[in-house]
Amino acid sequence: MTAPIVIAGGGIGGLTAALGLAQKGYRSLVLEKAPELGEIGAGIQLGPNAFHAFDWLGVGDAARKMAVYIDSLRLMDAMDATEIVQIPLGNDFRKRFGNPYAVVHRGDLHGVFLKACRDHELIELRTDAEVVDYDQDGSSVSAILANGERIAGSMLIGADGLWSNIRKRVIGDGAPRVSGHTTYRSVIPVEQMPEDLRWNAATLWAGPKCHIVHYPLSGWKLFNLVVTYHNDAPEPVAGKPVEKDEVRRGFEHIADLPRSIIDMGENWKLWVLCDREPAANWIDGRVALLGDAAHPMLQYMAQGACMAMEDSVALAHEMAAHDGDAGRALPAYQERRRLRTARVQLQSRFLGDHVYHPAGAHAELRNAYMRARTADDWYDAIQWIYGGTGLKDGAEAIG
Ligand SMILES: Cc1cc2nc3c(=O)[nH]c(=O)nc-3n(C[C@H](O)[C@H](O)[C@H](O)COP(=O)(O)OP(=O)(O)OC[C@H]3O[C@@H](n4cnc5c(N)ncnc54)[C@H](O)[C@@H]3O)c2cc1C
Repeated sequence: MTAPIVIAGGGIGGLTAALGLAQKGYRSLVLEKAPELGEIGAGIQLGPNAFHAFDWLGVGDAARKMAVYIDSLRLMDAMDATEIVQIPLGNDFRKRFGNPYAVVHRGDLHGVFLKACRDHELIELRTDAEVVDYDQDGSSVSAILANGERIAGSMLIGADGLWSNIRKRVIGDGAPRVSGHTTYRSVIPVEQMPEDLRWNAATLWAGPKCHIVHYPLSGWKLFNLVVTYHNDAPEPVAGKPVEKDEVRRGFEHIADLPRSIIDMGENWKLWVLCDREPAANWIDGRVALLGDAAHPMLQYMAQGACMAMEDSVALAHEMAAHDGDAGRALPAYQERRRLRTARVQLQSRFLGDHVYHPAGAHAELRNAYMRARTADDWYDAIQWIYGGTGLKDGAEAIG
């Protein structure tokens, strides 16, 4: 039997890579450093491109069952509590992009992928297995674990996230860029959300150097709260518990209604966000990067996980198209994905600067510009990202 494709990382990227490869008949071994496979308890937004990917990964029905289908993307001005724009996500949107826009609990989504992986005979999952390095020759690659064990594979996919060990070897471009934006997350029971804010929308309140996002989750049982403050935080942080008073501090200047959302949150946790410049190359022989390891981005387009899923579909597609020959499949995969993901990385930063966080005349310009556009204008503007699958500039269906 040929050696499996080894995948470092069992997050959304790693599990979907395994599923995509299995759909095309390739065996894989997922190595996850944590003692258990899982996701943090927070929400995630899914554009239609995620649903295209679900179908290609063989989990379309299960993933659709977990989602809350929201009516609109709603942008509010956090200074005067007026609406700036509402992009409808009803029938016209679904018809245009072939799939819905939805929000889902990360744990539920990861659970769908995990079950599909566990049920598939071509996928093996292993925990407590941190990949620290690799070496390779012309015919195989070995993943080297923290305990010194070597695991042979026909290829190695680095789906090991923002702080990827595999990236250190493939690109070696140092630590990620610290954005200085601090995000606090909380998930609350729906009854705790102020009644006049229980909107069936992914809502974003934009204020000077800060913004607040909320949407319902898990069959409308929960509300996801994500609030971000551009406070020039200098160090990366992930998931540190913080007191409510600390969260309130960045939002003292905004209107009462959006500020009241922070009071409703509990068990707040803090992340200092990081991203990277787009990279020119993600491959080294039989080794390739995928998901956040390849193209970490700020969450402002809500596309990091969607891009990881698209990567997985593209990788599987190119493997099949090149008869599993890593030397041809991996460069083809990279070329399909590199510029599209670079665009999302850079546009995510742009949204932070020009839509989510501007003040004064800059914010007035945002409001005037955005209010002047129709739903069709918005659909045209997002066609490149939602209209396709990420293959061939997003315009081609995956065959
Ligand atoms: C606040 C916030 C909100 C977001 N909202 C959205 C959204 O709405 N929509 C969206 O699409 N995206 C969103 N994202 C982005 C999304 O969460 C990430 O892009 C996505 O989770 C990346 O998946 P991944 O599998 O590539 O990496 P990760 O999720 O980081 O998974 C990497 C996995 O690899 C493991 N690992 C790490 N190192 C090793 C190693 N050396 N060996 C073995 N295992 C290892 C880790 O334990 C982890 O399980 C958001 C991100 C943030 C921070």
